[in-house]
Amino acid sequence: MTCAPPRAPRISAALTTVDQLLAEGLADPADGPGLQAVAETFRIRLTPEMRAVAEAPGVAAQFVPTLAEAVIRPEELADPIGDHAFSPAPGLTHRYPDRVILAATQTCEVYCRFCFRRETVGSDGALSTPELDLALDHIRRHPAIWEVILTGGDPLSLSPRRVAALLARLAEIDHVQVIRFHTRVPVVAPERISEDLLAAFDIRPAVHLVLHTNHPDELTPAACAALRRLNRAGVPLLSQTVLLKGVNAEAAVLERLFRALVQNRVKPYYLHHCDLAKGTSHFRTTIAEGQAIMAQLRGRLSGMCLPTYVLDIPGGAGKVPIGPGYLAPGKGPGQYRVTDWQGRVHDYDDPRPADQCLADQ
Ligand code: SF4
Repeated sequence: MTCAPPRAPRISAALTTVDQLLAEGLADPADGPGLQAVAETFRIRLTPEMRAVAEAPGVAAQFVPTLAEAVIRPEELADPIGDHAFSPAPGLTHRYPDRVILAATQTCEVYCRFCFRRETVGSDGALSTPELDLALDHIRRHPAIWEVILTGGDPLSLSPRRVAALLARLAEIDHVQVIRFHTRVPVVAPERISEDLLAAFDIRPAVHLVLHTNHPDELTPAACAALRRLNRAGVPLLSQTVLLKGVNAEAAVLERLFRALVQNRVKPYYLHHCDLAKGTSHFRTTIAEGQAIMAQLRGRLSGMCLPTYVLDIPGGAGKVPIGPGYLAPGKGPGQYRVTDWQGRVHDYDDPRPADQCLADQ
């Protein structure tokens, strides 16, 4: 059951226009002119794999534009997580000392309606050779950079040949020990997880893959098979999910998703609070709603299935866990009030450190 959501007949090419969505019956004809205006700002792309399961509302809402995207609220930002403030070279973000984000391409297999990089994805394609040289030169000159996170855009929208070439150049930098792909490809275009790509991943910096997936119905049989291929190739698999109203903002939906991921050997890693990207307010929950969902999940799921609920602080200050919290201060030093998964509160007194006990004797 995990890998068999309802399917429509498979189309042969991705849908990229409002007219195609209308022809497929995925959008309301009355909204057509308004959707054309939305599509001029934020691109459309829906792969055959996702079209086949787009009858599921939790899937369609992620990829089919709505008129709500035309509503831009004052708090919404073009660069909600502040990538640009930390960009020493085109495509590069260096926010933390030990890691960089490298956006090698701005194209994706799908264009998600809530994307926090929606102002840039789909625009410029891949980095030019001089731009990539600049980015790699920055990485080379900073020996503290231990990890390179390839994102974008979707780095696996590049051909296996280009992925291999990029990995080979990164492998020439001795201090780069880990390369992490952030991608939707295994789910939205699983046929791209080819033998050539898997061969490219077999390289000295350890290649890890973080799968972006938001709804259990995305995990089609072909997607599960792609995850299996990655797993057999020894690529560690984690997932990240965005908390989205109308898609997955219910404990039961996320429970199905996280269980399915672990069953497919993918460790749920992050549940992101929806960023303040322009035209996305209809997707956003409150933090209190997100914490309540996480609290319900803690009672229902093994810890292995639980991601960390995180907020990217607007402006670029980084990512932080946002709870819910289970530990509160007690009456005195070293005393705490601890809440269990059923909401019962317990006292916990920190034992005195052993060296202090010895000093008292
Ligand atoms: S695949 Fe990722 S980068 Fe591309 S539109 Fe979706 S969320 Fe944004």
